[in-house]
Amino acid sequence: MREIVAGRLVLADAVVPGRIVVEDGWIASVETGGEDGGAAAAGPIVAPGFVDVHVHGWGGHDATGDADALSGMARALLRRGVTSFLPTAPTLAEAEIPRFAERVRAWMPGAPADGAEPLGFNLEGPFLAPSRKGAHDPALLRTPAGIDPAVLDASLDGLRIMTIAPELDGSPALIERLAGLGIAASLGHSAATVEEARAGYRAGAPTTTHIFNAMSGVDHRAPGLAVAALTDDAAYVELIADGNHVHPALWPLVRRAKPVDRLLLVSDALPFAGMGDGRTVIGGLDVEVRDGRATLLGTETLAGSVIALDSAVRNMVREGGPIHEAVAAAAANPAALLGAADRGAIAAGRRAHLVELDDDLRVLRVRRDGGWIAAR
Ligand SMILES: [Zn+2]
Repeated sequence: MREIVAGRLVLADAVVPGRIVVEDGWIASVETGGEDGGAAAAGPIVAPGFVDVHVHGWGGHDATGDADALSGMARALLRRGVTSFLPTAPTLAEAEIPRFAERVRAWMPGAPADGAEPLGFNLEGPFLAPSRKGAHDPALLRTPAGIDPAVLDASLDGLRIMTIAPELDGSPALIERLAGLGIAASLGHSAATVEEARAGYRAGAPTTTHIFNAMSGVDHRAPGLAVAALTDDAAYVELIADGNHVHPALWPLVRRAKPVDRLLLVSDALPFAGMGDGRTVIGGLDVEVRDGRATLLGTETLAGSVIALDSAVRNMVREGGPIHEAVAAAAANPAALLGAADRGAIAAGRRAHLVELDDDLRVLRVRRDGGWIAAR
């Protein structure tokens, strides 16, 4: 089946009027500068589908819940332009980690075609530094050397990203082991010195969990993980671009420090994202959402966001980032981190996972393998 999608195409280095020829769900060719450039220029903005590698739930659905919850989350995310994702668990009790892994694995083959496609899962914990625990239950934190090896072994199949504080006992060896398995260690929730952080990247960690949040920072006499992350051109960094987790005044600093293909927009969204203000429980801890800001009840500790990647892209552009850069950070870069070379860009040979956006970058409709789905 052949389909033409016309509009202002968000390509790797620019937004250009043009047409995408889709055949059997794949992009056969991309045509720009043709005679109907005028019509395309008046069309919607067309971006590659977003890839959220760090998301705990959406629309009232929890990534650590049952198959219905995972399906609900996938469907809610798709309607925000997210066509691929990793269900992400916060720190769970040791025995719960393999159960979460097994639930996601069992659900994946039958995941709904009108939802974002799961590409495995992400574990944020339990190898976090107690002093940088953020909104994770300190009683559940472990070191790689201190965990029952069977728990880890049973959780590796389908695991794509795992947050690790590189200074913990056994972390470098675990990072190396994961790298050998094609699993991305993501340095974060860490009090590492800059040397410990660099050792983590050298051991094979390709990425960084939510830059500046829950990590040793940019102290000019005691540099930490944030400095190592921002000065290592090979390292990816996640940015939660909701305006709460990192003040927008720092976003240009991140954009200038990182090569354009190493920035990852992630939502770090909580299960009740999209549900307005209220109270809930995540990872056993009480969380309150007020005015789009989620905190551990009675504290100022941020507990994750209530955005999706469409908001992150809008926020980046509002703060002066070029559209193609923001979209790359939400699509091509996370896809590349996962080695998912079949998606993440508007280019021949990729899946036709597409998002149509209006001039305010609000999602109009989303295309996954089965065709177009209206945003809401
Ligand atoms: Zn998280």
